[in-house]
Amino acid sequence: MSRRERIVELDKRHVWHPYTPMRAYIDETNPLVVERASGSRLFDVDGRSYIDANSSWWCAVLGHDHPRLLAALSEQLRVMPHVPLGGIAHEPAAELGRALAERAPAVPRVFFSDDGSTAIEVALKLSLQFWQQNGRPGRARFVALDGAFHGETLGATALGGVEVFRRPFASVVLDCLHVAPEPSGYDAAFSRLSSLLASDADSIAAVVLEPVVQGAAGMRMYDPAFLRAARELTLKHDVFLVIDEVFTGFGRTGPFWAAEHAAVQADLVCTSKGLSGGMFPFAATLASERIFEGFLGAPERAFYYGHTFCGNPLGARLALEVLRVFDEERILEQARPKAARIARAFRELGAMPGVLRTRSLGMIGALDLAGPEGYLERRGQRVYTEALRRGAYLRPLGNTVYIAPPLNIADSDLEELLGIVEESVRVVVAGGA
Ligand SMILES: *Cc1c(COP(=O)(O)O)cnc(C)c1O
Repeated sequence: MSRRERIVELDKRHVWHPYTPMRAYIDETNPLVVERASGSRLFDVDGRSYIDANSSWWCAVLGHDHPRLLAALSEQLRVMPHVPLGGIAHEPAAELGRALAERAPAVPRVFFSDDGSTAIEVALKLSLQFWQQNGRPGRARFVALDGAFHGETLGATALGGVEVFRRPFASVVLDCLHVAPEPSGYDAAFSRLSSLLASDADSIAAVVLEPVVQGAAGMRMYDPAFLRAARELTLKHDVFLVIDEVFTGFGRTGPFWAAEHAAVQADLVCTSKGLSGGMFPFAATLASERIFEGFLGAPERAFYYGHTFCGNPLGARLALEVLRVFDEERILEQARPKAARIARAFRELGAMPGVLRTRSLGMIGALDLAGPEGYLERRGQRVYTEALRRGAYLRPLGNTVYIAPPLNIADSDLEELLGIVEESVRVVVAGGA
């Protein structure tokens, strides 16, 4: 039995994969068995390499083995891998707090947690408790966009608008009003938001938005003017705006935060994924001074919430190094010509028969295959298989095929990836839908 066979056998016997119909996986899937990752590439046990077209689920913004991140991590590992934040202060968390506040001055108070979902959970609980103890206890509902994805905890699931993710839990989740960008577009969604806030602001704690790009919905992009309108509306009705930068932060869409496209500052900002360079689960919820102050006073007004690994020194030190690399290696500037290249390639793909539409923003390029839409559609999956054969890991979202590679992907790797996308889509489309 080869090493590959043994790993697959154990995997299929024991490992329950995320977002995966396991019967079909066990019976039919021949998984990629990866043992090493370097730069923008994954290497399988047989030594074949695959360009990591989605930065390993949108995380590895600086590639998989940036030497400065590895050095920071291993140094911190030797000094102090973990201590809790209960009654303890440490330099990595304190310095990271300062560095994040410099990037987001309107939200200078940082609550650390473990991943994107918990960053959202913190934002929801902060919003609920703030209103409860600051004169608006009736504010217990949220507003999110249809198709939204904000994570997997029950709170985050409540906000989610991807039907298959939400359906089994619909009866137990928080009350969330969804405004639908489909079928009539974001104009309609935001005018619905406007009327909801006008009629129901007394019961709404916060509006939660993915800024400018709805990632899991299929890289749906919307005009920053809408984000600005949402900010104006939430200010007018004094409802919190939570901006979920878990995917879009750290330069994914061009500027450091996607909210910069709209020059908007939120009351709460959630960040994870790129925050720790995709090497370590780590997250932060950034809060305004006003929200922070709403928890001062009598002890029962405090935020009684925390995770074991809150502000973990390894994650904090790593995140600090990610921010330094962004500055010192001018990552945003270096990514600009790459983003322009992605934009041109996807514009050209739009001319291919069988491609319904394309779009791009920063280091994201996406195309929709013609035909029925939805998360469970299979043609995207065939593009995935074709791309794998050609040396790229290109997981689709339903029939949306997209790339979101590391911001510092080598130009030669980017060219190769764009070539693989083109060929794989062409083969599938030519094969008929
Ligand atoms: C991935 C993601 C999350 C959830 O993050 P996890 O680390 O998977 O819990 C939340 N919001 C957005 C926009 C995301 O892309």
